[in-house]
Amino acid sequence: MAEEKRDYYEVLGVAKGASDDEIKKAYRSLAKKYHPDMHPGDKEAEAKFKEANEAYAVLSDKEKRSQYDQFGHAAFDPSRGGTGFDFNGFGGFDFGDIFSSFFGGSSSGGRRNGPVPGEDIYASVTVSFEEAAFGCKKDVSFGRVGKCPDCSGSGAKKGTSPETCSTCHGTGKVSSAQRTPFGVFQSTQPCSACRGTGKIIKEPCTNCRGTGYIKTTKKLSVSIPAGIDDGQRIALRGEGHDGRNGGYPGDLIIEVSVRPHAYFERDGYNIYCDVPITFTEAALGAEIEIPTLEGKQKYTIPEGTQPGTRFTLKEKGIPVVNSKKRGDLIFTVNVEVPKSLSSKQKELLRNFADSCGENNYQKHTSFFKRLFKDFK
Ligand SMILES: [Zn+2]
Ligand SMILES: [Zn+2]
Repeated sequence: MAEEKRDYYEVLGVAKGASDDEIKKAYRSLAKKYHPDMHPGDKEAEAKFKEANEAYAVLSDKEKRSQYDQFGHAAFDPSRGGTGFDFNGFGGFDFGDIFSSFFGGSSSGGRRNGPVPGEDIYASVTVSFEEAAFGCKKDVSFGRVGKCPDCSGSGAKKGTSPETCSTCHGTGKVSSAQRTPFGVFQSTQPCSACRGTGKIIKEPCTNCRGTGYIKTTKKLSVSIPAGIDDGQRIALRGEGHDGRNGGYPGDLIIEVSVRPHAYFERDGYNIYCDVPITFTEAALGAEIEIPTLEGKQKYTIPEGTQPGTRFTLKEKGIPVVNSKKRGDLIFTVNVEVPKSLSSKQKELLRNFADSCGENNYQKHTSFFKRLFKDFK
């Protein structure tokens, strides 16, 4: 054995007990990271890519995984008395298949030169409470992998074009027979001459170094619709990464964060706030000022207003997305009891208290009458 093989779980960076989903996710991100299309001629990336494919082929298969868990690499290594399943050079399984099953290609096997849709891009934007309520425009910057403008994505130098691979005649695949202790197996592998693309680039484009794609930073002015709430997403079709071989581009998905408001809490399309009023305002009634999304507004509260009373201003809340309707503004009054009274003020209040009777405090009176009866 030339080199000690790394543990498959370690290769994918997952725990021994990882779920199928976690394994799939880990593989997918490694496969993307080290995909040969993104690193032409990079031997180390190629080795990492192979290693990840090999680990995934075992750990994604229930039976192979349990064998591997019991016997380790020996389960698949003939030189250590295993079952003779050998992954070197992808023998026995077609990684193009795995790849196309992820990226939506045909399942008929290894068509790496078929259309591959572009990946979605995730971005986020933060807006104020009012901007979310009434809508706004925001600039959003994001990194995007797009077709190289110099070669229009072909990877070939300006004025030249890629040639059809003579080894695989443009199919991207080669078949070979493999002798194993169980017999001869016919297997299909990606063509090594063209890395499964079916095309040979004699003179690579200098702008993209032959990959056909370049990473750019793009800035878009995005319309945030009125009424959007914290955590909601906007999808811009086709603004994601470009697809390959004629595949559609992905989407740009923007998650909106809404900054908290100094006065309002939002629940759906209604907004809520607390308004402190004085004890005399509550008793006598008053014209008070309350905040709204459009600025402050006068509101008359009636005499005898109790603490915790809720008042509703119809259609002063958040506009409903794609509609002319609006939610309500609901405010709750909190009665503030005066503190730090002077002796003169105390004297006035005592006189006031002496003047009060059952009529003035109906709840208080009935509560203590009942208490007196019940606990005689
Ligand atoms: Zn080829
Ligand atoms: Zn180019």
